Order: sequence, then structure tokens, then C-alpha cells
Amino acid sequence: MKYLQNIGLALFLLGLTIFTSLIILGNYKLTPVVLDKVVKNKAIKSELFIEIVNNKIVNETFNEPFSFSAEIISAMEVANNAHKQNSEWNKIIWDKPNSFTYVFVKQAGQGIVKENKRLFWWLTFGLGILGALLYIIPNVIVKGPPGVKNNGIWFNAATNRGWIGWFVFVFLVGFYLLLYFCPNYIVNWTYLVDPISELLSGNLASQWFLYGFLYCVVMSVMALRMYIKYRHNKYQILRTSSVLFFQIVFAFLIPEILVRFEKPWYDFKNAFPLDYDFFFSWNLDQLIASGGLGLFILVWGILLTLIIVPVMVYFFGKRWYCSWVCGCGGLAETLGDPYRHLSDKSLKVWKIERWMVHGVLIAALIMTGFTLYSYFSGVATVLGIKVQTIQDIYGFLIGAIFAGVIGTGFYPIFGNRVWCRFGCPLAAYLGIVQRFKSRFRITTNGGQCISCGNCSTYCEQGIDVRAYAQKGENIVRASCVGCGICSAVCPRGVLKLENGPEKGRINSTEILLGNDINLMDLVNQK
Ligand code: SF4
Ligand code: SF4
Repeated sequence: MKYLQNIGLALFLLGLTIFTSLIILGNYKLTPVVLDKVVKNKAIKSELFIEIVNNKIVNETFNEPFSFSAEIISAMEVANNAHKQNSEWNKIIWDKPNSFTYVFVKQAGQGIVKENKRLFWWLTFGLGILGALLYIIPNVIVKGPPGVKNNGIWFNAATNRGWIGWFVFVFLVGFYLLLYFCPNYIVNWTYLVDPISELLSGNLASQWFLYGFLYCVVMSVMALRMYIKYRHNKYQILRTSSVLFFQIVFAFLIPEILVRFEKPWYDFKNAFPLDYDFFFSWNLDQLIASGGLGLFILVWGILLTLIIVPVMVYFFGKRWYCSWVCGCGGLAETLGDPYRHLSDKSLKVWKIERWMVHGVLIAALIMTGFTLYSYFSGVATVLGIKVQTIQDIYGFLIGAIFAGVIGTGFYPIFGNRVWCRFGCPLAAYLGIVQRFKSRFRITTNGGQCISCGNCSTYCEQGIDVRAYAQKGENIVRASCVGCGICSAVCPRGVLKLENGPEKGRINSTEILLGNDINLMDLVNQK
């Protein structure tokens, strides 16, 4: 078994190394035909930009994407400055430089990767998947009979914030920074999934298609690990199947197929305010212009947030969304499962969590209020603040840095639910409903608790479950995502996730201390 695992690890690392090194492979040459195509495709109105590109870049060969991108960005800046001086606002290229450059790099790319997309898919994704499976399956099976075995988790450099954990952290953060801010450097990665993208949507793959595909692959491989590890627990098997289904079908396949039929890309399960740009004017305009389906999406999006989500939380708690449907939760519960014990359980962090997550919810609501006011009134500035600026700041800080870079990159350091716990505005909204108006609770049979602390250790939301169990108190915490792992790892069957009557659901009990009460009085009352 160990032998098989070592082969798996070697194959996985080989696939990962090839994948990473693809960034620097290939040549980039912009021909006049390709330039013409991109200019039409992006509706570029700046003759000056086209002239500079024609003079300095067309027919030149670059050996990597960095210098090629730098030349395009330089041409863009020179042209933009000239247009600003002449007040030619309609000719200015407003796109973010790296995003604007992406299409040029993608179209100009040549060489071994672009010409052998399928071969390189197998050398990267293929080896990675095969290696991961060979490593994971024996690793979970050799740990013996069904049951949750977390032996040695604090002695492993991958799961105790050791050097492997830090290496994974650096890799993930680097990946997210490239994905969000420098897509023009990763076009070779997108070539690998072009055939799949063309099959689904009819288009070449963007960096977001690559991300969606990678997301599904990683979740599928790690879901297999969950099936084996938690094979004694029906709740975990169903829950894992559910998040996998919603990710692959709702977040990946359906939106891409909609694009094939020239409909708007839309993930039907992504509720506002997690889907923070749902009410942005470009989205509203696009939906309204898309006929019946667009209007249906508009109505569905509003109903989902205002009616469906809170009603479901009333009956089942926020677990129905956070642990059964949501893509962020899905990745946290599969890829992030080996890191769940790293979430901080201290009271101080609980306080920080409440301020942060509700702060993001308020920020999202204020931004949306400004956006809608601007949309209906036609003004670009509300209370002296440019609406576009607020949207840009929120998109950068919350949409990209928090949800992406920190949310997943920090798994090996802060645990697997960093985003859900500290940053997700939808989780904050669901949490408020769950805390004050829901039938969900975790009941605790305090008499059986042996205070082993397994439940608290493996609570990804940083809840000190044991403290409740010791008192026999129901857990109705706003942050509980109902993952059920506390219950799965409890050796005494103390914890049970239940939906029941609201009456008696909140049963906070106080431990009597000598300072609070004269214990002799209690004795005398008897
Ligand atoms: S209390 Fe239990 S069910 Fe809730 S988030 Fe923590 S581990 Fe999951
Ligand atoms: S895992 Fe079970 S027995 Fe151990 S502290 Fe938690 S509730 Fe008590």
C-alpha cells in the first residue's frame, strides 16, 4: 500500500510541476489578421492604440507572455493618456490592463502547448487525478475499519501548519493571484481545457472556465476521499453527493450550456448577497435584454434571496445551503476537510468573526442600495460617492481577495471555512435567521459526554461544541453550518442534528458557581 501511495504522490507532483511550468512555455506572435479579429471582438475604438501595436508588436516574436503583455499594456497606456489629454473619452480603453491583454495573449500564443492540448491535458490533469487517487485511496483504506480516524493529524507537516502546509498555502495564494489579477500569464493553462469549453459553450476557454473545471475536478477527487473516510455515516455521504451535484450541474454545466444558446451565464443556486453583482446595472440590463429566460432569472434571483433561502433556513437551518448546496462550502467540505481542525476556537476570534461577517453583510447591502438608487435614478454619484468606485472596492477586497485568495489560499493555515466564517455576507444573513427563527438545533446528551474534545477540535466553524455538550445545552449558534462532523467524530453519540419545534430550542443552562449563589441555600431548600 505504501508503495502504491509513493507512486501516487510522485505522479501527482509530476503533473503539478508540468502544470506550473507551462506558464513559461510557448511563443507569442501577433499577426495582422489576429489583431484585426481582437480589435473587432473587443470593439476597440482607439486608432492610436492600433497604430502603436501595428508598429511595435505585430509580427514580432516573444518567448514568454510577460514581455508580450508588457508591450500591449504600454501601448494601451500611451493611447489612453493621449485620449485623455484630447478629451476623447469614447476612445479610452477602460478595461483593467491585464484582463484587456488576456485576449491578445490567448490569440497570439503558439507552440507546443497550444498544438498539443489533449496531450498536455493528460500530462497535467490526467497525472494529477491519477496520482491523487493512488495516494488518497490506500491512505484512507489502510486506516482500518469504518469510522473517523484522525490519528497523527497534529504530527503531519501537511496538516499542522508545518512546511508542507505553508508550501500549499503559497501555491494556492499564487494561483488565485494569477487567476484574478494576471489571467494574461496563464493562457497556456486555459489551452488545456479549450476542447471541453468548445464542446459545452462553443467558445475558447477563459480563465473562469479553467477555474470552474478545476473546481469540479478537485471537488470530485476529494469527494471520493470523503466517501471512504466517512463511509460509516449516511449523512456525510448524502451531503457530499449533494454539494458535488450542485457544483458540477448548477455552477458548471448549466451556465456553460446557457452560453451556447446565447443566454446569460447564470448559476441558479448562487443567491445574493454572495452573488454580489446580481443587481449591478450591467447584469440587470443583460437579463432584461435576454427575453423570457432573463426575466425568469431576475425573478428567481430575488425570490431565492427573499423567500426561498430564509424559509428553508427556518425548516432546516443554514446547513441546507452552506453544507448541501453552496460551491464555496462544497470546496471547503472536500478539499478543505483535512484542515478543519485548524480553525481557531477562542472567544476572541469568535468576537472578530461576528464583527467581520456582519460588517461584510452591511457593506454588501449599502453597496447594493447605492447601486439600485443609481440604476433607477440614472445618477452615477450617490451622497458624493461614485457608485462605480464602491463596486470596484467591494469587488476587489471581498469578491477577489477575501472570497478567493484568502478564502481558499488560507485553508492550510486558518482552517477550511475562513471565507464562510469571516467573510460571506450570505452566511451572515442565514446565520441571523438560524439563530432567531429556525427549527434547527444540535441536541446534546450531556450525561454521555466524556469531554474528549473531538467535536470542538473538528468543528470547522470554531465552535467549542464540547462546552455545550458538557452542559447538555442545545447548540443554536448562527455560524453552525450543520456539517455534522462534530456528531460523526463523537465517540459517545452525544450530538444529534435535528429539526424540531421552536419551543424549548434555546435552552441555555448556567453552571452554578459558588460566587453566583449560596450553595447552602440550595441544600436547605431540599
Ligand atoms: S457545530 Fe458541528 S455541525 Fe456545526 S459547524 Fe461545527 S462541526 Fe459542523
Ligand atoms: S466528542 Fe462527544 S464525548 Fe467528546 S467532548 Fe464532544 S460531545 Fe463530549
